[in-house]
Amino acid sequence: MWEEVDDQPPGPVDDGCGPARRAGTLPAVTESPHPLLPAATPLLRLDPELLQIGGVDGRDGLRVHPAGAEVTALLRRLDGRRSERTVRAESVADGVPGDVVDDLLAGLRGTGLLHDLAAADLLATDPGPAAVARAGMELPAAVPRAGTGGRWRARRQSAVVVDGATRVGAPLAAVLAASGVGWVHVRDRGPVRAEDAVVGGATAADEGRPRALAAADAVRRASPLTDLRPLPPDRAPDLVVLCRPWAAADPLSAALQQAGTPHLVATVRAETGVVGPLVLPGSPGGGCLRCADAWRRDDDPAWPRLAAQLAAVEPAPSGATVTCLLTAVTAAVQVLAHLDGDDDPVTVGAALELRPPDLLPRLRRWPPHPGCACRGTGRGAPPP
Ligand SMILES: [Zn+2]
Repeated sequence: MWEEVDDQPPGPVDDGCGPARRAGTLPAVTESPHPLLPAATPLLRLDPELLQIGGVDGRDGLRVHPAGAEVTALLRRLDGRRSERTVRAESVADGVPGDVVDDLLAGLRGTGLLHDLAAADLLATDPGPAAVARAGMELPAAVPRAGTGGRWRARRQSAVVVDGATRVGAPLAAVLAASGVGWVHVRDRGPVRAEDAVVGGATAADEGRPRALAAADAVRRASPLTDLRPLPPDRAPDLVVLCRPWAAADPLSAALQQAGTPHLVATVRAETGVVGPLVLPGSPGGGCLRCADAWRRDDDPAWPRLAAQLAAVEPAPSGATVTCLLTAVTAAVQVLAHLDGDDDPVTVGAALELRPPDLLPRLRRWPPHPGCACRGTGRGAPPP
């Protein structure tokens, strides 16, 4: 579907917006919307006066006529740093009538090409041109279409602990940091083994170094300003990601449950990537890791003895690179959904399993177990 903006040729109009700022000077952040047209949006000429914006990737585009150089300049001002009022004032000073500016912005919003950044999100971005440029790549995915904003700020203020600098945990930490999570701490006590090296995580040169330090370096490579320090005792993490293969049987998961800390399993067991369940203590309907354990025990009475042995030893690294990275990215999407305040991440009460060779996600349900002490809330003391 095409929407078209077709207006009279632009001419000098005083719309009462006040003096435009000098070109190239970024204005201060205000409370008004800051429209962002991602820099990668194609601006394509059909003829000297007809411009097509986007519309080449299966989504709606917009055709604008007439559209001279002043309209292109207007579109380039939609950088997310200028307020709508500033964009309008600068464009009017450039000779574009105010109603043309308004129609164009409305048309872009109608097609979903324009993202309205909230002032709170902009202020939450690290200072400096490099950090702003990196954030510019992430913001369109963090800002809801409705333009309510606040997601990016929520990520910047969040703290995530990654337990296990594994072939999933280390790249996952880097992806979370690059996606805007302000505080990412990786916990691990072991040294890097040759097979721990993975794209986006520990490198081959890290062999023998502490895994936690190698993971911290991986995070720094992706996002130099992310806070990597351990959380102080009075700062509870917003989420803990359990990257060791059999963390469900680990005392750590019981402690998280008792403390009411949200936690997510993200690991590779043998060759299968597993993302979930996401346990949100106090949130009804999702259950907990003990629920999943109880269902396994129902299927096989020997399961508790097997699980105890699995949790007793540190497993060897596992998972092909494609499996580990897909698991890490799938987990990152779930973490961000939780931090962004999405209502119902798919891994609440379920796990996504990624099995070679096709690695297509399969959803495995782990509903609340009627015999679990959490009573379906993910909270409460584990059963004896
Ligand atoms: Zn439970």
